[in-house]
Amino acid sequence: MRNWLQQHAPRDLNIPPDGRPLNNETQERVKEFRRLLGAQGWLAPTWPKEYGGGGFSPAFAEVLQEEIQQLILPSMGDNSRWIPAMMVWGTEEQKQRYVLPALRGETITWQAFNEPRSGSDLASISTSAVLEGDEYVVSGEKAFITGRFDPDYLWTLAVTDPDRPSRMNLGILMVDATLPGISIVTKRMLAGSERTIVLDSVRVPKDSLVGLPTQGWEIAQTILEEERGGYAFRSNEDATIESIRQFLQQERQ
Ligand SMILES: Cc1cc2nc3c(=O)[nH]c(=O)nc-3n(C[C@H](O)[C@H](O)[C@H](O)COP(=O)(O)OP(=O)(O)OC[C@H]3O[C@@H](n4cnc5c(N)ncnc54)[C@H](O)[C@@H]3O)c2cc1C
Repeated sequence: MRNWLQQHAPRDLNIPPDGRPLNNETQERVKEFRRLLGAQGWLAPTWPKEYGGGGFSPAFAEVLQEEIQQLILPSMGDNSRWIPAMMVWGTEEQKQRYVLPALRGETITWQAFNEPRSGSDLASISTSAVLEGDEYVVSGEKAFITGRFDPDYLWTLAVTDPDRPSRMNLGILMVDATLPGISIVTKRMLAGSERTIVLDSVRVPKDSLVGLPTQGWEIAQTILEEERGGYAFRSNEDATIESIRQFLQQERQ
């Protein structure tokens, strides 16, 4: 493993320390390495082979991670947050279309949920997706989106039915980032930079919708549960639960 990585990993990369997007040359060199890793299942070592993973043991994945951490590389994980949700809610055909190339290192996907006027209260987003024949026409703006690499897909939350109550009016679309009407602006900030995406009447094929047309909130929770309430917060929550347990025990006594 170490020999292989020494042989194939790119060296002397230009990696800005503050998280801003990589320049084109660096992106291409890292993407090539991702494809090589993905081709042998090393990008997602423990995932099933039929979805582009390696089918390896957790022990193998741990050793691989240790070895990769020895290399000087940018984060290669822009791509993974949406995958567990797609595995739960996507059709088999969608898993083959989106998950397989992602785990093989062939595509990059951004999570395009947040908007300029919608943050913590994510259900207040206003990007709309209106069904016209076999296409959704998507319009709106997404802001503060992270992406060191340019995207192939945008995992997008949008209002699919404005007449329904909040949270029950949203859908999730996997939008091809190269479609006409999409423009991406990089905003340089004090710490790193973030991207703004403008979607101007983008015509998205209907089969890019994941789950039911108004199931978006439920699907988003599959990710947000882990991202915003899961492992990152676990130790705090464990401590809170323990203190509540102690409090209740004392009260009872
Ligand atoms: C570095 C970075 C990367 C990001 N990358 C992505 C990405 O890739 N994709 C994406 O979709 N989004 C991304 N985001 C956006 C992120 O999801 C939002 O920043 C986040 O949801 C918070 O929204 P906000 O910044 O508008 O803060 P606000 O919602 O304005 O919150 C500001 C403050 O008010 C508090 N607050 C808000 N509502 C309440 C309330 N009801 N009661 C009490 N307190 C409240 C919050 O806790 C916080 O302290 C990124 C943000 C950052 C900073």
